[in-house]
Amino acid sequence: MAQVKKLTLGRIGEFGLIQRATRIFGRPARPGLIKGIGDDTAVVKVGHNKALVFTTDMLIEDIHFSLKYEGFFDIGWKALAVNISDVASMGATPTWGVISVGVPVGIPVDSVDKLAQGVAILARKHRIGIIGGDTVKSPDRLVVNIALLGDAAEKDIIYRQGAQPGEALFVTGRIGEAAAGLEIIRGGQRSAVSGQQKNKKYLIHRYLRPEPRIKESILIVKNQLASSMIDISDGLHLSVKLLCAQSKVGANIYLNKIPLNNQLSTINYQQALQWALSGGEDYELLFTVPRQKVKKALELFPHGWIGKVTTGSAIKILDQSGREITTRNTGYEHFKTA
Ligand code: ADP
Ligand code: MG
Repeated sequence: MAQVKKLTLGRIGEFGLIQRATRIFGRPARPGLIKGIGDDTAVVKVGHNKALVFTTDMLIEDIHFSLKYEGFFDIGWKALAVNISDVASMGATPTWGVISVGVPVGIPVDSVDKLAQGVAILARKHRIGIIGGDTVKSPDRLVVNIALLGDAAEKDIIYRQGAQPGEALFVTGRIGEAAAGLEIIRGGQRSAVSGQQKNKKYLIHRYLRPEPRIKESILIVKNQLASSMIDISDGLHLSVKLLCAQSKVGANIYLNKIPLNNQLSTINYQQALQWALSGGEDYELLFTVPRQKVKKALELFPHGWIGKVTTGSAIKILDQSGREITTRNTGYEHFKTA
């Protein structure tokens, strides 16, 4: 008898699972939806040219962080930072959040306080109100989830969709630094990352305390620079792929244009590039710029130009001499085994 193979998460991966959820949830039974599943946040209409963006992100112990390497304050900070980053990538302003925690019973109270303080400090910095949540016991791993709202004028919102062939591809800052920081904390003294102590400290900080690019997002909106945008949470390569897939375009990424950490690239250029392309957690913004706006974009982001949008659907990574590079690893996808 032929065996029917059960569909596994390992096979369909995170994105396969999201596709199935999209079908199951279907079209909402109420009006007002501007953008549903498939972008960095959902977008709903709340008034004339007024939109609300809505997002949620969850951090799980031993998947997204380890209590061996990260402090509770850092975990709280990051839980909010990743959500703010998604709001920033829509060109919106974060406003209100709720936080849910699943806490193993053995965790000291002052540690849970520190986690809340990490959230509170970053919230204050961005004038976000944390106004609710849920607190439950977890069997053995710490879980933190934040849901965040943001405001935007409907016409200002920047989606993953909207890039046009011929446009320029920009990033807001150096890529791959967080992945290097993670390598340093994980590897400790044995870490493969060499260089000055000061730079190492900076890289660790980039990993532990990501600064969501709200200021940059405001500049991009104010100057109407971007035709599409996404945040770079799981490596540059994957972010370019996701943006291009939604925009139905391809892209050329010029390796030697990717802004990298100076010391890292001097010491081991290949490694620095690998971290930039497929390491995660940079939380910079990736956006596309129409030709007539490139000059302005270069004034605001002098090292931001990394490539161009093309027709078709291929994402090509090209070295200095125009040769195409193939990479094994395009970034992180939950569940995926191959
Ligand atoms: P990001 O990395 O920007 O947070 P994700 O890759 O997590 O985005 O999610 C991609 C899209 O899928 C988003 O629009 C998100 O809201 C949606 N999504 C993720 N998981 C689910 C789910 N279980 N059910 C419905 N939508 C989901
Ligand atoms: Mg995102």
